[in-house]
Amino acid sequence: MVFINPNVEAKYWHSDGKEVVCDLCPHRCRLPVGAFGRCSARKNVDGKLVAYSYGRISSIAVDPIEKKPLYHFHPGTRIFSVGGVGCNMHCRYCQNYSISMSSIGKKRTTFKSPEDLVALCRQQKFDQIAFTYNEPGIWIEYILDVMACDPDLDLVLVTNGLLNEQPLKDLCKVTKAMNIDVKAFNDRFYDNLCGAKLDDVKKSCKTVFDAGVHLELTYLVIPGYNDKHEELLRFITWVRDTLSPDVPVHFTRFHPDYEMINVPMTPVETLLLCKSDAEENGLNYAYVGNVLADDATDTYCPECGAAVIKRTGYMVDIVGLDSDRCAACKHKLNIVP
Ligand code: SF4
Repeated sequence: MVFINPNVEAKYWHSDGKEVVCDLCPHRCRLPVGAFGRCSARKNVDGKLVAYSYGRISSIAVDPIEKKPLYHFHPGTRIFSVGGVGCNMHCRYCQNYSISMSSIGKKRTTFKSPEDLVALCRQQKFDQIAFTYNEPGIWIEYILDVMACDPDLDLVLVTNGLLNEQPLKDLCKVTKAMNIDVKAFNDRFYDNLCGAKLDDVKKSCKTVFDAGVHLELTYLVIPGYNDKHEELLRFITWVRDTLSPDVPVHFTRFHPDYEMINVPMTPVETLLLCKSDAEENGLNYAYVGNVLADDATDTYCPECGAAVIKRTGYMVDIVGLDSDRCAACKHKLNIVP
């Protein structure tokens, strides 16, 4: 395999004596020459911070947009989906750890220039692209260049939300929809299991919401770790009061993986309880995920209760939508058709 390293200079860094400091995410890694950041995606090369994972693709696939999960953005469509390697969190239960915990050189990747990636996406007749599978925020230079090649693409990001404010605002300018993982609503979980801070993720959710990007949240419910009733209520009321009751929230099922293979799967009853708690406490669109659960993945009009979208797995049946309104009562829904 030909090794192509475009050595693209990173954005968002400054030098401090013999080291460089990366200003992309709250870790603010301080790197001597030759060192990689915690994300394995950025490296000090001769005193300059390089976006080392630029254009290095680990996976390309076509997914239902519901798989991201996004239930309210172009429902029922498929999206060209791209992943790289590395992550700035290190979640002990990561379900994509083979790429998120890997680095360039360890994981086989293919280089595609922004032009080549856009051409492939368009050849396959897609007008929306998702950066997903691993953390896209650490690929910001590549994503911005892809969007500069084809600003008419609808960009979707599936992210952990761990970025500093300015880079996140820069991404928001070119992004149509985001799903942010809120991994728990307690600091200890973020400290011990992810190596990050909850407050940083909360700030990012607010920044994205205020920027007008379509936002959905995912909360992976892990038995014994982030499933306490009062913790879930704090999360739900925070979404309602700080963001909006209209932000869709996906309570998804945990499967044992990576370093947490002894933790059981989330009981379906727990997920259904999260959904009913969310609805009773004012959220208009709460779903369960990673599980087949009758009508718990369907969308209903919060005004009149009519069914709007029915889902069975990734099969989508739009039954009561008139553009972005309920077909029955004409109430405006938070759905981008
Ligand atoms: S983006 Fe990577 S290199 Fe930069 S501060 Fe975050 S973990 Fe460190």
